[in-house]
Amino acid sequence: MDKYSDFRSDTVTRPTENMKKAMAEAVVGDDVLGDDPTVQKLESLSADIMGKEAALFVPSGTMGNSIAIKVWTKELEEVIVEERAHLYNMESTHMTFISRVTPRPLSSNRGAMDPEEVERNIRKPSVHFPRTSLICVENTHNNLSGAVVPMENLKAIREIADRHEIKIHFDGARVFNASHVSGISVKEYAAIGDSLMFCLSKGLSAPVGSLLVGDRDFIDYARRVRKALGGGMRQVGILAAPGIVALTEMVDRLKEDHKRAKKLALAIADLPGIILNPDHIETNMIIFDLSHPSLTIPDFLAKLEERRILALATRGGIRFVTHKDIDDDDIDRAYAAFQDILTR
Ligand SMILES: *Cc1c(COP(=O)(O)O)cnc(C)c1O
Repeated sequence: MDKYSDFRSDTVTRPTENMKKAMAEAVVGDDVLGDDPTVQKLESLSADIMGKEAALFVPSGTMGNSIAIKVWTKELEEVIVEERAHLYNMESTHMTFISRVTPRPLSSNRGAMDPEEVERNIRKPSVHFPRTSLICVENTHNNLSGAVVPMENLKAIREIADRHEIKIHFDGARVFNASHVSGISVKEYAAIGDSLMFCLSKGLSAPVGSLLVGDRDFIDYARRVRKALGGGMRQVGILAAPGIVALTEMVDRLKEDHKRAKKLALAIADLPGIILNPDHIETNMIIFDLSHPSLTIPDFLAKLEERRILALATRGGIRFVTHKDIDDDDIDRAYAAFQDILTR
């Protein structure tokens, strides 16, 4: 039987041989006691790459985002977020659950919030209102098919935040993908945020983990919040080791994912029933809608699965994501399946 071509997410990748070897050979200590050298190496490498003072290894991107929001806010405060942002929609509402702050969602143009609208939504000091203490940005934007948010936009929002003495948290789960497309360094992106979170477990293909970066005081307090949330881990160098491989060996190949996503997007965009503007596919994600006389989205996904192609339904249609374990052959198989289902 043919293998599955798994386009559900860039989180489905299996660790590389070098990652497995690094895990087996990792020198470890007790990271809660502060003496796991492999974690320390990953954290200092991450801080260096992002041009920040310090970094913290966390089990997931969700924990990284929830810690950042907890550190930058207190109760009776409000956080400006893009309305389709991952940390607002897809992280089980930790903003209210953990930080007890209200989100203030704003619309955007493919992830870029209008700076004037951001400024208008910063609350005036008043006993009636929460205080606006944080703005969150996301790049690339997951729910908007991996859109790269323009640097001018991020800089304009930074200026507003500075003027109002508000912090910015940057959800950079896929900031390396953004950097490849824009040619802007991850350091420049990280400079937009007082803190930034990036994932090792997405396109970079590590089995587990994300990093939170920021200045030393921020990370010191973030470490305490991580412990309080149960995210202090012991011989976790075993998980940090493949993260080091991810950062040193897996960044450049993201370009391949982008090329393959574009190739598939261009091919399927012309098929009957597919609603997709391939110009919108800039990185490794394709979200398209279906307009078909008889096939619903669940029908279409089931027909794909019969052909051993896996994808996910999402708001706005169906999501295909390319990653390390998708090769040119998987793209050809996916296109053939689309043709077979839609043109027969
Ligand atoms: C995946 C993702 C996260 C959360 O990461 P997990 O490790 O799945 O918790 C946060 N933000 C964005 C944009 C993501 O795509």
